[in-house]
Amino acid sequence: MALVKIYDREIEYEVSYRNVKYPRLEFKTGKLLLVLPKNYGNEKKIIDKHKDWIYRKSLIIEEAKRKAKKKRIENRNEEELRNIIKKLVKKFSDDLGVKVNIIYFRRLKSKWGSCSNKSNLSFNTLLKYLPYDLIKYVVFHEITHLKERKHNKKFWEIMSKKFRDYEKKEKDLLAYWFLIQEIERME
Ligand SMILES: [Zn+2]
Repeated sequence: MALVKIYDREIEYEVSYRNVKYPRLEFKTGKLLLVLPKNYGNEKKIIDKHKDWIYRKSLIIEEAKRKAKKKRIENRNEEELRNIIKKLVKKFSDDLGVKVNIIYFRRLKSKWGSCSNKSNLSFNTLLKYLPYDLIKYVVFHEITHLKERKHNKKFWEIMSKKFRDYEKKEKDLLAYWFLIQEIERME
């Protein structure tokens, strides 16, 4: 673990040298991880290049972690989750007039859900810990991808018609993400 000072903040980070072509920065677990090609050398250059992004992201994550302390998790099993999601998929795909192929339930490492170009949906089984309205939000998000593949203007228009507070929902999802990381670490 190393520390870097960016403006007024001390930010912790880790470096991982891997067989990758390009360097990348991640905040998946809430801590900054620099994934660098094996012969990349010193990490200072890439930190400096992305310092504004790192700074902004670390603020957002800190806020999410603070919020996470006030959140409570739901006590559902995976079967209950599957039933809830199947019903929501049925309803929302009818509402939006789209067809869903297969629904998968998996332990996804870095997201709540995904949508493939074969119209298959995957949902993270960790959604079982989330309040119902956030599960609804995630399901609607993935179904909306059957209309709009990318997170473009049109996509957010559809989302915001259904969820006026979609920005808050995004923040809540991030807060839950970190809360669940904590729980998973303890188990
Ligand atoms: Zn998406």
